[in-house]
Amino acid sequence: MNDPKMKFGTRAIHAGQEPDPTTGAVMTPIYQTSTYWQESPGKHKGYAYARGKNPTRTALEKCLASLEDAKHGLCFSSGMGATDAVIKLLQPGDEVITGNDIYGGTYRMFTKVFANFGIKFHFIDLSNPSNIIPYINTNTKLLWVETPTNPTMQIIDIVGCAAIAKTHHITFAVDNTFASPYLQNPLNLGADIVMHSVTKYLGGHSDVIMGALLTNNDEIYEKLAFIHNSCGATPGPMDSFLVLRGLKTLHLRMKAHCENGIQIANFLKNHPAIEKVYWPGFEDHPNHEIAKKQMRGFGGMISIVLKDADMQKTFEIASSFKVFTLAESLGGVESLVNHPATMTHASIPKEEREKAGVVDNLLRLSVGVEDVEDLLADLKNVFS
Ligand SMILES: *Cc1c(COP(=O)(O)O)cnc(C)c1O
Repeated sequence: MNDPKMKFGTRAIHAGQEPDPTTGAVMTPIYQTSTYWQESPGKHKGYAYARGKNPTRTALEKCLASLEDAKHGLCFSSGMGATDAVIKLLQPGDEVITGNDIYGGTYRMFTKVFANFGIKFHFIDLSNPSNIIPYINTNTKLLWVETPTNPTMQIIDIVGCAAIAKTHHITFAVDNTFASPYLQNPLNLGADIVMHSVTKYLGGHSDVIMGALLTNNDEIYEKLAFIHNSCGATPGPMDSFLVLRGLKTLHLRMKAHCENGIQIANFLKNHPAIEKVYWPGFEDHPNHEIAKKQMRGFGGMISIVLKDADMQKTFEIASSFKVFTLAESLGGVESLVNHPATMTHASIPKEEREKAGVVDNLLRLSVGVEDVEDLLADLKNVFS
């Protein structure tokens, strides 16, 4: 079933999925096979070898494509695997423009892996799309944007970036991990490619590592599908099944993440132990007006700067939560707390990190879907 007229929650539950033709199983089976029978060489039912295609993964790719209003979807064995495939569209000498506070792992891949292959990356302040223009030249082939950014929740104007990318014939990719398709659909705002760390909100239960790419552009899709199969960062059927299952509650979970996020952001904003709260729902958050235009809610990601806390004090606070778990990652049903400077962003040099606001006394919260009273009680206790 893939009826684009159906609403988001219905598509999250049904898109790409039909009762199994051999048994009528309502849930898409886990096709745990590496290879498929061929009646005569090359004559098969569309599946030859499972690196290329697996029916469980096909159902998931169709479901994710539907949620991003995309024609094509590809799933990868991690978010980084998905990003890696996008950069492999490029050649030595090509240049990429991206933000100065992108995900730490993406920064590491760009600077430590692909820079060695002769690709040049410009890390710039994207808070105003016109900042891109001075960096464009005939070698510029890709604009890579994350919004909201991690962990300072900067909002980048997708429509504004798309207009510049289009004028200069630059492929425009958006990492939509933080918003999820429930809150934001970059393809509808002019992006050419959407990337997801499916590990986060889409999987939603902190039990799978996976990535995805979505596009409406046939030519880009053909190239990415070729890289997908040739380089082989493809996920297995069990993980695909777990994400299909997770997606069935994406709309319910996101609604709860947003509702809890509002209450927690407001509680922290007025707390004397907190110097600063980063959350795009505040009217005084930079580019709040753009957030209101391009997002349907503000999510459950909130970062805080602790007042008068050195590294030791910050560590003590990070370790004293009872409901929030100190861990990497985000977007699961359970609330997590993270210390970006030593955890998610440790691969970024201190000086670069601090330029982007990732100071030693910053903590990032991934607000889960527990009862908000218990989350507030945990915060009150920690900051008493
Ligand atoms: C986690 C994350 C990634 C990387 O995804 P993995 O699934 O961990 O490989 C990329 N971008 C953002 C914004 C992320 O949060």
